[in-house]
Amino acid sequence: MKVLLASSEVHPYSKTGGLADVVGALAKALAKEGLQVGLATPLYKGILEKFPGIHPSDLRIDLPLGTRRVEGEVFQLEGESGLTVYFIRQSDFFHRAGLYQETGADYPDNAERFVFFSKCVMHLARHLAWQPDLIHVHDWQVGLVPLLIKHAKERAGWGTAPKTCLTIHNLAYQGVFPRSAYELTNLPEDYFHPGGAEFYGRMNCLKAGITCADLITTVSPRYAREILTEAFGGGLDDVLRQRQRSLVGILNGVDYTEWKTTGNPFLNNSFALRNLRGKEAEKLSLQLTMGLPQASDRPLFGSICRLVDQKGSDILLGALVEMLAANMQFVLLGSGSPLLEKAFQNLARRYPDKAAARIGYDHPLSHRIEAGCDFYLMPSRFEPCGLNQMYSLRYGAIPIVRATGGLDDSIIDLTEDLEQANGIKFYEYSSRALAKAIRKALVLYRELPLLRHFRKNAMSADFSWDRTTAEYVDVYRRTLAAA
Ligand code: ADP
Repeated sequence: MKVLLASSEVHPYSKTGGLADVVGALAKALAKEGLQVGLATPLYKGILEKFPGIHPSDLRIDLPLGTRRVEGEVFQLEGESGLTVYFIRQSDFFHRAGLYQETGADYPDNAERFVFFSKCVMHLARHLAWQPDLIHVHDWQVGLVPLLIKHAKERAGWGTAPKTCLTIHNLAYQGVFPRSAYELTNLPEDYFHPGGAEFYGRMNCLKAGITCADLITTVSPRYAREILTEAFGGGLDDVLRQRQRSLVGILNGVDYTEWKTTGNPFLNNSFALRNLRGKEAEKLSLQLTMGLPQASDRPLFGSICRLVDQKGSDILLGALVEMLAANMQFVLLGSGSPLLEKAFQNLARRYPDKAAARIGYDHPLSHRIEAGCDFYLMPSRFEPCGLNQMYSLRYGAIPIVRATGGLDDSIIDLTEDLEQANGIKFYEYSSRALAKAIRKALVLYRELPLLRHFRKNAMSADFSWDRTTAEYVDVYRRTLAAA
């Protein structure tokens, strides 16, 4: 089977969130499974310098974008056997400080940038020497690809065009632009209707993917059910319900070759379930780095996230104000809303011995926080899948999560199954409910046999890509076999 993946971010080349981790790992895992895999992504600033193996290909790009033509080049990198990454170089669009925005404001030409990228993906699919059977696109930035392919197949003479799969990593981001942006697609007007790319008079890139893809997946079984409801559907629940038969939820996997507690280049100490001394050393070193008193017997809570409404920062701040009176510490790594950044910085100023906040993006520190913490906080309002709760399980930081989306699918609370319990769940979206969960964690921390039991379940939980890959290959097969 031959698959072309496309994503606006891919670890280790570019990343703002979980999307990059998942696409990077999925591409590797599919290639390992024996599929021929291509992966298309923009060539952002700095990538060429960091990956000297990337080289120009023979493919040139010269595509219409509304009333003008835009040129670009295709660079490529041969990864593990069976995997080739194709980087689209278009310096005006992609050689910038950020991926989607700078200083909190979206780039005003994001429609041009990602309509162009979507057209490049279709161009690649058509002109690569190996013809993909299926194009698998991820999130709104490439949501138009299934529509472009549908048009090519039904009306523009490419009868053998590949099938398409869209994965929704987060329905909260849909790529909605003014109607005028639709002209950039150079598609006939008659796709601009509620059954196509139109959404209340505007162009909605994700909706175009939902209405036109042969297969739709999302990143956890529970989120697949949630997005069919008005509360979680972001205005697209109706369209999603119409496509329900083509929608499946597949829980993301973890790349354990990157997220590991032994031989991890970002950690100073290795540790394992049977020898947690290295974890204790990581805790002391993290406390030092974050400017907190070093105390191995004080429970340390951590959180790493984009500071946006989704992640539950408001209830986290409320719960911490109440709970920091107790004998505990908290560290945060995150960036996003200036208001939330300030709120966490103020909290750290108010409790200098108990709370610390690092504002910014810091990949090595994210590994150290997972390794050094006793508990990991993820009080999300909604969470399509979430990766950090799975990373923290492996690092022996017991996750405290709100029971939503992938958090509910991946974490087992003591009240659900004492034998298998690996985390603490709470249900109501409130500071009070989260504070209660933190109180349970403080009790657990003092009950050593129970804590060991939780750690054992957590650290041995297996979210490896093997299961996830098998599920993707299975749905690809079924899609290719369907008429
Ligand atoms: P989302 O994709 O909604 O941001 P996930 O939990 O699925 O949430 O994935 C987030 C990924 O981004 C994780 O790998 C996490 O460690 C990383 N991350 C988020 N914020 C930061 C940050 N400030 N510094 C380093 N890594 C971060």
